[in-house]
Amino acid sequence: MAKYYLTTAIDYATADPHQGHAFEKIGADAIARYHRLKGDNVHFLIGMDEHGQKVAQTAAERKVSPQELVDAVAESTEEIWGLLGISYDQFIRTTDPAHKAGVRRLMEQIFDNSPDDFYEKAYEGWYCVGCESFKNDNEIVDGKCILHPTRVLEWVEEKNWFFRLSAYTDRIRKLVSTEEFLQPKSRRNEILSLIDSGLEDVSASRSRFSWGVPFPRKTSSGEEQTTYVWFDALPNYLTATGFPNPDYEQLWPADLHIIGKDITRFHAVLWPAMLMAAGISVPKRIWVHGWVLVGGSRASKSAGGNLDLRESIARYGPDAFRYFLLREVPFDGDGNFSWERFEERYNADLANALGNLASRTISMVERYCDGVVRSGPKDFCSTRR
Ligand SMILES: [Zn+2]
Repeated sequence: MAKYYLTTAIDYATADPHQGHAFEKIGADAIARYHRLKGDNVHFLIGMDEHGQKVAQTAAERKVSPQELVDAVAESTEEIWGLLGISYDQFIRTTDPAHKAGVRRLMEQIFDNSPDDFYEKAYEGWYCVGCESFKNDNEIVDGKCILHPTRVLEWVEEKNWFFRLSAYTDRIRKLVSTEEFLQPKSRRNEILSLIDSGLEDVSASRSRFSWGVPFPRKTSSGEEQTTYVWFDALPNYLTATGFPNPDYEQLWPADLHIIGKDITRFHAVLWPAMLMAAGISVPKRIWVHGWVLVGGSRASKSAGGNLDLRESIARYGPDAFRYFLLREVPFDGDGNFSWERFEERYNADLANALGNLASRTISMVERYCDGVVRSGPKDFCSTRR
């Protein structure tokens, strides 16, 4: 039996999931169920990204500890995926002790395997807490991050551990150039042009920030730093397999990472480079989906186009909602959610077309076959009168 290990993005533990998260999970769930029917040994991972400045800030605003916040969001999120019928095999949380130990081991393995790849550097720049990343000038409009126009950018001056991403330019280009690794093609082209514009080294740790995994090495001045949240989040796919226990390779490498288009570069560039630095195989495939638009804007907390997911599931039940999103939103691009469209699809496709077919079939089985579907040839009922 072939193993099939698929993952979805882990979601920030700052709020309940929305339609956009649901779309990703439903799409992944359909793929997981397909592979189970095919007889594959499926392992379907989903989870929560519980560290980082955004989580710490949200907890402070609500006057709870970060751990209390993420515990509450994780419980509510798992409940919603249950309501939606997502057939995941594992729910990873980056505050799990095993994950944190795995991240530290991975960082150590990069130090051991590629000693030149981490170095100390003083850095200053604009940091977007929404993206949890530093922003270049071309990603800033009117002093705001393009993806998070409601957030204020922070000016950060720090001496951090840096990862020598630039050294992986040729290897990453070669990997991304293959048809299999990054799909659909539109995303592949986007990342290839990003690579051609030059990859810059990235911060691997944060100074004066504690809600995260302690970085395994102190700086030369003796300061203990926190692992930058992407160096903590991306390895969840690896630590979920039991890494660094030797049998992690029963699941790794992942067969498929499913992610949204706003985090493509982290998955298609940074993540394989980290793995190459550690001497670990890269994932086989990354699939990038688009956004669910609500009233023309992205379904997300920060963009304001948010609809309550529990309400969407409760309207006609989970199957109708799952059907609607898969039918209405292409898996390689953006699509719209509206209650009107949901109702139209529900009535036209499910009630009138499928419902009518089921109702006619059942009444004929009752009328002509005494209500019994017999085994045998599938052309006529054997007791047709
Ligand atoms: Zn941002």
